[in-house]
Amino acid sequence: MTTAIALFTRDLRVHDNPVLHAAAAADRCIPLFVLDDAITSSSFFNANRAEFLSRCLTDLDASLRERGGKLVVRKGDPADEVARIVRAHDVTDIHVAADVSRYARRREQALAELGVDLHVHDASINAVPPLSLTPSGGGDHFAVFTPYFRKWETVHRRGVLRAPVRLTVPELSGELPGELHHGTPSPDLAEGGETVGRELMASWVRAGVHEYADTHDALAADATSHLSPHLHFGTVSVTELLDRTGTASEGARAYTRQLAWRDFHHQVLAARPASATKDYRTRDDRWRQSDHDFEAWRDGRTGYPIVDAAMRQLAREGWMHNRARLIAASFLCKTLYLDWRRGAQHFIDLLVDCDLANNQMNWQWVAGTGTDTRPNRVHNPLAQAGRYDPDGAYVKRYLPELAGVDPRYVHEPWKLPEDEREALGYPPPMVDLHEAADRFAAARGLRPHR
Ligand SMILES: Cc1cc2nc3c(=O)[nH]c(=O)nc-3n(C[C@H](O)[C@H](O)[C@H](O)COP(=O)(O)OP(=O)(O)OC[C@H]3O[C@@H](n4cnc5c(N)ncnc54)[C@H](O)[C@@H]3O)c2cc1C
Repeated sequence: MTTAIALFTRDLRVHDNPVLHAAAAADRCIPLFVLDDAITSSSFFNANRAEFLSRCLTDLDASLRERGGKLVVRKGDPADEVARIVRAHDVTDIHVAADVSRYARRREQALAELGVDLHVHDASINAVPPLSLTPSGGGDHFAVFTPYFRKWETVHRRGVLRAPVRLTVPELSGELPGELHHGTPSPDLAEGGETVGRELMASWVRAGVHEYADTHDALAADATSHLSPHLHFGTVSVTELLDRTGTASEGARAYTRQLAWRDFHHQVLAARPASATKDYRTRDDRWRQSDHDFEAWRDGRTGYPIVDAAMRQLAREGWMHNRARLIAASFLCKTLYLDWRRGAQHFIDLLVDCDLANNQMNWQWVAGTGTDTRPNRVHNPLAQAGRYDPDGAYVKRYLPELAGVDPRYVHEPWKLPEDEREALGYPPPMVDLHEAADRFAAARGLRPHR
């Protein structure tokens, strides 16, 4: 008799799940999720992800019950909890998804020491396993996206796996935890769970994706997939998403490229785990220290509407449009010249899709300490606003105090007549963009920009 544990981590789905699929082939299968104390008590866990995760677990349990099983939920250290079950139920095999963080790899190591067969499924969280591709010129990972993408596109991906029809789960304690209280979630947080994720994926691949190439940067259109939290928690499989996206339209090809960025950042973190906290490529920055400036940025009070709208979207939804993330992050690191780690931690505190690889490596990309081949580029907030929010509709959505402002002034309210400006109750710009650009140029040893 074989008994296999399917240890769910951030692959909280029954469809196209290599871990569950393989474990379900045993005579008995134990679908297990461990609420890991080390994660839930760390600064990485936030109210938004706790709320989303709670929904994911409830939905997963319901799907497993439809198949004759249930989700066993334990609390503690994953390897300890798995060890307890291994001893009590004569477990022969453990299945888990490969992941890239240092912490995930230590967990994998601890599971390997339990004395039963451990199967680590590497095309589960990623479409192309991290570190399976290496540059022809040598090196253990790709540091530049374009050549990575060229290779990534040619990789033969595994087929999409069916959800198991029937599961035989032994009698085990470990009920759903109910709500995972961890502070107050954002008021407009998206709903979690595989059922919602699959509906979103279905409508996206049917309609939204085909316009993606033209609309993905238009802030007010909000025409991106919003699948990032589902990809983070694995309620949608990236392999299935790519399969269903196809490459027939220009939008589908542009979207596929974006999904490759996700794998790209994962392989960088897999190769250089220290870059979660340390510069991937140091520029010898001596970042300014200013709580005042950081708090103005964090609270959406910089006086630059496009930056403030981005930060208020984050607070309201626990999510932010990619273009807004670029603008807000560039403002922190390059305009205010504050350490990218402070900004990354604020995103960790609020983002529902926050992912160590994607968040830290994107922050480093924007700060110019990561993989950007133009590390000193600055996303000027006014130029970005004019280009990606030309009529100010995005700004007005998140900054009600500017809702009635003439579109000609919405990105530069300081140009309004004084009485109108004062009536808004909106702060003046906290920094002069030219001076900030000169400060950044000097810090990086570049020629002044003017
Ligand atoms: C400073 C900064 C921090 C970020 N932090 C995160 C994070 O913690 N988690 C996260 O998933 N994404 C992060 N991103 C990337 C990107 O902003 C989000 O993936 C995207 O906005 C999610 O919305 P969407 O699903 O509608 O994206 P879509 O435009 O629909 O893209 C589809 C998917 O492609 C992937 N993707 C798109 N752009 C990127 C990118 N630049 N890097 C990696 N993957 C990408 C995501 O999985 C996304 O869900 C960050 C970007 C920046 C600039």
